[in-house]
Amino acid sequence: MSTRVVINGSRGRMGQALLSCVAADPAVSLAASTDVGDDLQAVLGGCDAVIDFTHATATAGIADLCAAAGKALVIGTTGHDDEACARIAACAKTIPVVFAPNFSVGVNTLFWLTRKAAEILGPDFDLEVVEMHHRLKKDAPSGTARRLAEILAEVRDLDYTKDVMHGREGMVGERTPREIGMHAIRGGDVVGDHTVVFANIGERVELTHKASSRDTFAKGALRAACWATGRQPGLYDMQDVLGLK
Ligand code: NAD
Repeated sequence: MSTRVVINGSRGRMGQALLSCVAADPAVSLAASTDVGDDLQAVLGGCDAVIDFTHATATAGIADLCAAAGKALVIGTTGHDDEACARIAACAKTIPVVFAPNFSVGVNTLFWLTRKAAEILGPDFDLEVVEMHHRLKKDAPSGTARRLAEILAEVRDLDYTKDVMHGREGMVGERTPREIGMHAIRGGDVVGDHTVVFANIGERVELTHKASSRDTFAKGALRAACWATGRQPGLYDMQDVLGLK
């Protein structure tokens, strides 16, 4: 039997990609599509999982509704503050939640490679993350860039809040070994580019992923919805779905 999904944020760029991918995927069926002004709670009874690609301020309330209804939740939305993340984590005690800044298989491979490269190259390499997205993106840096910097911080025993340097302007002084540089570029219709730079004296390694279609995120989110349905409550990410842990 197919997994019945609600697409929340259905009028958005990702919502539209999800609707077309649902139509092409026999493993899933559309229970409902909702956006601003629709009653999400009213359609939860007829679904197995909700897929949310909306806005950071909306997700915690959506998670509360899913927890009350006992429905699996896939969160693609990015840019949440600590309070929203804590509310989502609380809901994950009663329902399965897949919360991932990026659902593409390629980017999840980039996460894995970034960890390996940081471990192998060691503390002599300077770390910088560069991301580029379309001109309409609202949050910065991207959730994916943040996750890349978090992975680098974990390996190098750094603190994301204290050690990430967002852009540089004026007399900022020489680069310190503890810095993780973070740079967000915006323009045109770029779906999502991410590069992690490991730079040392005499050599440099760059790991790059470029997404050219939103379908890659949509297909990953649908795969996550099927995976999460019927699973034990918990806070999962795409690495769990892909078995990369
Ligand atoms: P978008 O602005 O095109 O679409 C967002 C949609 O959500 C809009 O139709 C809007 O009306 C709707 N919305 C806003 N608040 C809502 C609410 N409270 N209830 C229901 N609907 C609501 O944005 P987008 O490009 O589709 O991106 C959406 C989110 O997904 C962003 O946070 C983006 O960063 C993220 N994103 C994540 C991934 C991933 O793989 N995790 C990939 C692409 C985008």
